[in-house]
Amino acid sequence: MARIVMKFGGTSVADLDRVRNVAKRVKAEVDKGNEVAVVVSAMAGQTNQLVTWCQQLSPLFDAREYDAVVATGEQVTAGLVAIALQELGQDARSWQGWQIAVETDGAHGKARIESIDGEELIERMKRGQVPVVTGFQGIGPDNRITTLGRGGSDTSAVALAAGLKADQCDIYTDVDGVYTTDPRIVPNARKLNKITYEEMLELASVGAKVLQTRSVELAMKEHVRVQVLSSFTDIPGTLVVDEEEVVEQEIVAGIAYSRDEAKITVRRVPDRPGIAAAVFVPLADAGINVDMIVQNVSADSTTDVTFTVGKTDFLRAKAALEAAQKEIGFAELVTDQNVAKISVVGVGMRSHAGVAGTMFKTLAERGINIQVISTSEIKVSVLVAAEYTELAVRALHTAYKLDA
Ligand code: ADP
Ligand code: ASP
Ligand code: MG
Repeated sequence: MARIVMKFGGTSVADLDRVRNVAKRVKAEVDKGNEVAVVVSAMAGQTNQLVTWCQQLSPLFDAREYDAVVATGEQVTAGLVAIALQELGQDARSWQGWQIAVETDGAHGKARIESIDGEELIERMKRGQVPVVTGFQGIGPDNRITTLGRGGSDTSAVALAAGLKADQCDIYTDVDGVYTTDPRIVPNARKLNKITYEEMLELASVGAKVLQTRSVELAMKEHVRVQVLSSFTDIPGTLVVDEEEVVEQEIVAGIAYSRDEAKITVRRVPDRPGIAAAVFVPLADAGINVDMIVQNVSADSTTDVTFTVGKTDFLRAKAALEAAQKEIGFAELVTDQNVAKISVVGVGMRSHAGVAGTMFKTLAERGINIQVISTSEIKVSVLVAAEYTELAVRALHTAYKLDA
């Protein structure tokens, strides 16, 4: 007997037939003698619709009300899956974040889970009931609904698995595992049987949407065994594991892309000590994360600072900089939302030189201009024009010999 958390993403609960399919899979695990808790996302497309409605009413919407709106998608599917389970004769009940409670910090729209009280759910699982929990949401210190950022149901699932001391956390989605890159862009991408926490964390953080970054961070910290697998087939998925468990380590594990960033250039700022602080402190104060940064060498006494922020933060970032224009003393802001970040990731980079060189050469051969570069110990990222996303990912996938 094992205790299992089963998480189903949006495509897995996209309509009533799929909700029934989920219920069947859950019941099958219970019938094997396991204790099962379920975490669900909203129906595919539902969260996008809810987000769009908020944006249409107000581009700089109140984040607390945004959360009140976007958290509703998961409430629907949790109830529906509970009903479908009951229809199969399986005792089940739905739980919203606040009912458990899933306590988060107050960062509305991108809240972090602080604690989960698992006792009541464990009690009920022992009695044979299946808790069906809304992913993506929690309750903040202000007693208001919070959401965990896009893709946050993965994090709900891992946090619940930790809170329930579950033996495994199965993330059911529309692909049958983690691939060397997004199989939608590169059809001959290779499925990985295992991937290290570290590589998965890096891939997720640079855009591989198959797992939310924080879910991997949490799994690594809490030693949760995560498997990514399909809710439409019965084949084993990809296990996320410690480095020692991966036998044959490639230099590059995978390639990811993100179209979720926007580029901002602060033009002609006075080149003096403290200028980076003057630019980035107002952004930090507004709760905006900055990703890639470059500062030009100054020809006269001024310089340009270029950086990227998440597209969802773009308007707020612009507003924060404009409000601080006098103190910073820049001439103008030049912005570009038509960019993509392409990244190659692999722990093998620690011991092998030449990964970045191969990347730059491959992109140059395709005539793709690199706008910004950033690196970490196991990753190289470049910013390019968005129209080259597919071309760049495919070319790199071939260059690093990842094609199946
Ligand atoms: P869910 O709704 O189940 O949470 P997501 O859309 O969030 O599903 O994540 C699954 C998607 O992630 C896949 O359909 C795939 O297009 C994308 N993806 C991106 N990179 C990868 C990768 N390296 N391996 C597998 N899937 C990936
Ligand atoms: N429904 C939320 C989203 O679309 C959370 C999730 O699916 O993980 O971002
Ligand atoms: Mg997802």
